[in-house]
Amino acid sequence: MPIRSLKYRLYPNQEQAAWLTEQLREACDLYNAALEERKSAWKCCRKTVSFYEQSRQLKYLRAQGLLKIPNFNCAEEILKRLDRSYSALFRRGYGFPRFRSVRRFDSITFPKRTSGFSVYGDRLRLQGCSLIKINLHRPVDGTIKTATVKREGQKWFVIFAVEYQTITLPAVNIECGIDVGLSSFIALSDGSTVAAPQFFRKAQAKLRRAQRHLARCKRGSKRRAKAVAQVVRHHVKVRNQRSDFHHKLSRQIVNGNQLIAVEDLNVKGLAQSRLAKSIHDAGWTAFVNMLTYKAADAGRTLVRVNPRGTSQTCICGASVPKKLSDRWHDCPECGLFASRDVVSAMVILAAGRAAQIVTNGDVQCVI
Ligand SMILES: [Zn+2]
Repeated sequence: MPIRSLKYRLYPNQEQAAWLTEQLREACDLYNAALEERKSAWKCCRKTVSFYEQSRQLKYLRAQGLLKIPNFNCAEEILKRLDRSYSALFRRGYGFPRFRSVRRFDSITFPKRTSGFSVYGDRLRLQGCSLIKINLHRPVDGTIKTATVKREGQKWFVIFAVEYQTITLPAVNIECGIDVGLSSFIALSDGSTVAAPQFFRKAQAKLRRAQRHLARCKRGSKRRAKAVAQVVRHHVKVRNQRSDFHHKLSRQIVNGNQLIAVEDLNVKGLAQSRLAKSIHDAGWTAFVNMLTYKAADAGRTLVRVNPRGTSQTCICGASVPKKLSDRWHDCPECGLFASRDVVSAMVILAAGRAAQIVTNGDVQCVI
């Protein structure tokens, strides 16, 4: 069964907030100590310390009163995080794990369903703390697997990983291709475009002002702490607005279409392709991820196609070279005249259909 994360606001009282902050500090210290151990073991005797070796020490640390995280699995998960960042290093060959600042260490995870946390009505119980008020603004529909307590600026949240039942939507007879627009957020093969929301830009102006103000504050001052909180608030707001926009749009597209063809922008050479793609890149990836899982849940097919040449060809197959500044597509062969983004979306849809025939549906592929 697929897993999704559900995020709920926590309302800890002063005492509880202090306890949570303390937990984050402990977790951060543990992370840094474990990193230090791995680093020095390698430096002095070329020895690799494994997750299991570090995990075995936890019991001793707790017995000595050196570790004030009451839940064992929770402490273990912090060591696992470090282990994961080492694995990532070995896989990629760069990105050495760094010591973390206590101000940036913002979450702890309870990785076992049966250990350390539970929900009673509108209260969250964490091992070692009194019941914390939780705003269950939507029902937790499914089995909770893990819980992550997170600090965002001044606010606290809990994020549940929930295993849920998918609902297959009734089939529809509509298909669409989606192109990253030059002047809009996306263009669809049915001729419509979705404008890039203005709040990105508006928020950016506010953010710039807040950052300027922050830069002028004296280090260590109260004003500076306030200014930092303000900048965080702006970032969180932009992120929330963007994700809300992506969720609603992807839901609409998945509900209305049986086959959805998108450009696969995770191909090499993206840097040489159109400018707007790199601008929208981060947002586009998040958006396609939402489309992907929503389509999979609903029983729709999502096909990723190679974006090469989608803006330079016509649906009739003729090559119609365009410069970045050319906004319209005018095919000398078949006479198709339309916005370049819409034609790209049509070409993407055609490629998606062809790919679906090759693979007989359901399989995501790159042609
Ligand atoms: Zn044509």
